Amino acid sequence: MSEMIFLLMLFGLPAAIGFKLAMSRGKNPLLWGMLSGVFPFFLVVLHFHQPTHEIRGHFRKCDHCGRTFPWKDSVCKYCGAAVSDSETI
Ligand SMILES: [Zn+2]
Repeated sequence: MSEMIFLLMLFGLPAAIGFKLAMSRGKNPLLWGMLSGVFPFFLVVLHFHQPTHEIRGHFRKCDHCGRTFPWKDSVCKYCGAAVSDSETI
């Protein structure tokens, strides 16, 4: 029984983190959750991955330079263009 819990921690935890990260980056959460569970290295890949399109609540796409940056930022970190207020939640 304790082996079950051990396996769950070993594979379930990175899988759960991978699932959440993939969702916030517009990737397939099931696929990336599974990959992260087997190879936790994929968590690093996901963490540094920048989405190429806007993901509401997670990443914005800059109107000025076209790069994506975290949703909570009010100014583009690449070119300094301010986010228009209409897009702010
Ligand atoms: Zn920009």
